[in-house]
Amino acid sequence: MNATTVAVDCPVCGADAIDPYAVENGFELVRCGGCGLLYVTPRPDPVATAVAHQYGLHEGDTTLAVTGRYRPDRVRPYLRILRDVHGASLPPTCRRWLDIGCGHGEFLTALGRFAGDDVSLIGLEPNVTKARGCAARGLDVRSVGLEEVDGNFSTISLLNVFSHLQDPTEFIAGCVARLDPGGELLLETGDTADLAAVDHPRPLFLPDHLLFANERIVHRVLTEAGLQVLSVHHYSAASAVPVQVIRECQRAVQRGDVPPVLAATRRWVRERRRRIDMYIRARRPD
Ligand SMILES: [Zn+2]
Repeated sequence: MNATTVAVDCPVCGADAIDPYAVENGFELVRCGGCGLLYVTPRPDPVATAVAHQYGLHEGDTTLAVTGRYRPDRVRPYLRILRDVHGASLPPTCRRWLDIGCGHGEFLTALGRFAGDDVSLIGLEPNVTKARGCAARGLDVRSVGLEEVDGNFSTISLLNVFSHLQDPTEFIAGCVARLDPGGELLLETGDTADLAAVDHPRPLFLPDHLLFANERIVHRVLTEAGLQVLSVHHYSAASAVPVQVIRECQRAVQRGDVPPVLAATRRWVRERRRRIDMYIRARRPD
């Protein structure tokens, strides 16, 4: 491993009591004895992490490549979630929405359809390849930090961002400071910190992921940042179409093995039943 690592106490509650939880890719995930957060310690230093996010390459025993590609099939599920969270439409006070860590822009695309032309949409994405792809699809996406974007926002969304944060309390406070009075935060992350290690979705993607939370922990971080939680929506992390079954069977066939149709289907059915993905809508008081 090339990167310098630093040992840290719990990034949510500061406790230093830990139980070993899992080891992956040369990194250790521990459970906090104070709040139950799962977090990586020692972890790559902040400079190494910033460079890793820029290029989508995370150094471990093997280098983890996480850039991926644009997935148009994600737009429709996002639209459904927006309807669950907001009903038929966004509140009329919503004029400017910032999506931090917008990836390939699927959520911004869904938002564009849901919100219409009256809401200005901006995305921030540190991965330069992803940001370039978004710009090519006509989205306003920039590879800069929040401090380099002017003005405040009606809503800030953070999808699959929380688990990458080094200091969630400080980061969320920074977002709240940029919300209009009455503005909202929409945060998506896994609700997995209470799972036994054997039941946790794998791979963990360490050290791209630095922590795994649950509803109680995220509620605590949001409340401590001065937000009021409005609603929590739980979803299955597995897709409605058994894509993982098809992929597992295809890989087996490529290796010359018998496709594990039954076992792969059982795993998918079990995953569909678990509601371990959550969206939390919170509001900054007026
Ligand atoms: Zn803790």
